[in-house]
Amino acid sequence: MKDRESLAQFQRQIAELQKKEDEYEVLKGAHIQLISTVENQERTLEELGAHLSESKLKMADLRDVSKSLRDAQWAPDKEASHCRLCEKEFSISRRRHHCRHCGNIFCHSCSDNTMPLPSSARPVRVCDTCHTQLLQRYSNSEN
Ligand code: ZN
Ligand code: ZN
Repeated sequence: MKDRESLAQFQRQIAELQKKEDEYEVLKGAHIQLISTVENQERTLEELGAHLSESKLKMADLRDVSKSLRDAQWAPDKEASHCRLCEKEFSISRRRHHCRHCGNIFCHSCSDNTMPLPSSARPVRVCDTCHTQLLQRYSNSEN
């Protein structure tokens, strides 16, 4: 009787242990899944980081390009000997004027217009060509 009782207790303990082991297996599975999730996220973060530094480089490139464009657009005074539009030669009486829109150099009569530009608060000098273009653009955007 006593032996049978202890045997039953022993079997209960074995069943208990079996249950624990099952739980352990489930936990282990969950743990492995977690680790792979973390690894995936780390990989994603690394990729994101790589993309980020890539777009940072691209942005720096763009900044360089726009800077060189800006520098190139403003035509140097010395190189312009003639008005870009009417091609009359510059002299003391016919002075050079920069168009604030295209950056080229014109005589006074070919750049005798002022227009408001996004780059400045007050109306600035623009050449006849840019004046026509800008008038068209402004009237289009108003419609
Ligand atoms: Zn001119
Ligand atoms: Zn112009």
